[in-house]
Amino acid sequence: MFKPSEESGCDEPRPGIFKNTALNATFNSLGSERYLLTEDNKSLRDIAAHVPYDTLFIMINHKRYGGGGIYNLYCTFTVDNQWYEYLFLHEFGHSFAGLADEYYTSSVAYNEFYPRGVEPAEPNITALLDPKNIKWKDSLTPHIEIPTPWEKESFDKIDLAYQKIRREINEKITRMKREKAPQAEVEKVEQESDRLSRDHAKKVNDYFSKSRFRDKVGVFEGAGYSAKGLYRPMLDCLMFTKGKKPFCKVCEQAVIRVIKYYSE
Ligand SMILES: [Zn+2]
Repeated sequence: MFKPSEESGCDEPRPGIFKNTALNATFNSLGSERYLLTEDNKSLRDIAAHVPYDTLFIMINHKRYGGGGIYNLYCTFTVDNQWYEYLFLHEFGHSFAGLADEYYTSSVAYNEFYPRGVEPAEPNITALLDPKNIKWKDSLTPHIEIPTPWEKESFDKIDLAYQKIRREINEKITRMKREKAPQAEVEKVEQESDRLSRDHAKKVNDYFSKSRFRDKVGVFEGAGYSAKGLYRPMLDCLMFTKGKKPFCKVCEQAVIRVIKYYSE
């Protein structure tokens, strides 16, 4: 469905930018700067009701990096950002297949989202409470060590350094927008931020391509916003890092299960 808004874009509460849009989508949902949701369920359903549908994707005209996905509800993503294809598929993973975030280094609105000692409901992360009965045991690479050792320490070093820079540059962009800095100056910093993001993604991909655990299905520590105590199935996945890459095998199976649920 195409529903034109009065104004292009969406709300950005932190720099004090508010737009009159069809779905009232807003950044900074739940206090997370890149989390982009709408709470206007009535408008959403009014628009969606014009066609039969199984699942909802909300495309938002904005160049800032952001999106959100809630299982069985909807997902959003910005379509003018360099990562829009990734954003769409990642958020689709949440809303369509109920996948968890596998990342754990970038800041989120919710700390300790998964209570200790409880197995998360999502199919792609585990607290490893019962190592003999892992939820993706049918997909495990034969004879893989559990938990599976990987180059976590050096990855964390690279990633945390970038997360710090990202936080700082995002703060700077917010401040400039709030103080109504000239558009050209804001754009210059935004371009720098985009470049840093691309460079970092490339570094991460190169790093993983050298790992001997690439392509293995095991139980890798670091997932679900927690560096310790939660585990993911593979070294890399669309639910873990940004870029043009596949879902890991476990996430892929989860997506297939839901497609079959709707289609068979
Ligand atoms: Zn995955």
